[in-house]
Amino acid sequence: YAKAKGPGSYSVYSKEMNILSYKRLELENNLRNAVANNELFLVYQPQVSLSNSGYRKAEALLRWHNPQLGRVSPADFIPVAEEIGYINELGKWVIASACQQLKKWQGQGITDLVVGVNISSSHLLAPDLYDFIQAQVTQAGIGYHQLELEITEDVFLDHSTTTITQLKRLQALGIRIAIDDFGTGYSSLQYLKNLPVDTLKLDGMFVNDLEENESSRGIACSTILLAHSLKLKLVAECVENQAQLDFLNKHGCDFVQGYYLHRPLTAQQLTETFLEKSLLTEV
Ligand code: C2E
Ligand code: MG
Ligand code: MG
Ligand code: MG
Repeated sequence: YAKAKGPGSYSVYSKEMNILSYKRLELENNLRNAVANNELFLVYQPQVSLSNSGYRKAEALLRWHNPQLGRVSPADFIPVAEEIGYINELGKWVIASACQQLKKWQGQGITDLVVGVNISSSHLLAPDLYDFIQAQVTQAGIGYHQLELEITEDVFLDHSTTTITQLKRLQALGIRIAIDDFGTGYSSLQYLKNLPVDTLKLDGMFVNDLEENESSRGIACSTILLAHSLKLKLVAECVENQAQLDFLNKHGCDFVQGYYLHRPLTAQQLTETFLEKSLLTEV
């Protein structure tokens, strides 16, 4: 393609390509050492309960701070980790860290907390995931019900029985399963029929224009009804203002997550939040 435009554009094109592939390579190489070099940490974004759920919830979100690259967003490095086959390493680190943090919280008397952990589709299918989670939970001495795996609808795309089997085994331990970014995938509702999912997380794209978009309001209300008729909890993501919160509360949404309630917090900040006020408080 570039060559057809003549030698001049070829050299410009390839120069840009070189810069791009250099940056990409730099990211890859640094990422491969992120676990070993201790460059990762978790932040926790509370999911505030609107109904009296009896437990507190937060989502663990991965952060990477590299000396050369600075802070890199998970939106940028997670896809790269998936491509280079490093995502399972990252996923294991996240699970282990979340379990250790839950153990710390337990030591501080915080025992009613559920932490959501994002699991990439390929990691969900890893044969050693089940044993790994079992070992981490046992070692930390926490409850299986304190972990919720957030998976996206794309895991159901291939209708693979392996996925369903894996999820059922994990759930039999007591681990919760949430469908993340619900409503944005290409999958059908078929999986909800047979799979004992616990939580639906309505994607932020249906929340951020609730005030001005009638379709978003319709989708939000229908998803809340869908969740409740299947006896699932509904978490709304990306709540950024009072009007969105009021609407979701009025229509029976169970949990709200978003900058309007809390930004993602360090473990220490979350502990302080817990000590000063319960996340069970009605808003
Ligand atoms: P997600 O799982 O849907 O996480 C929610 C994202 O929305 C987070 O971005 C969070 O900081 C952001 N968010 C929360 N409240 C608001 C709000 O009110 N407004 C807006 N605009 N955004 C809000 P973050 O932390 O940058 O993560 C982005 C994505 O990266 C996550 O989306 C998830 O897909 C992925 N990710 C993050 N941590 C992990 C991880 O440990 N493992 C895997 N596999 N993926 C992860
Ligand atoms: Mg998530
Ligand atoms: Mg999400
Ligand atoms: Mg998302």
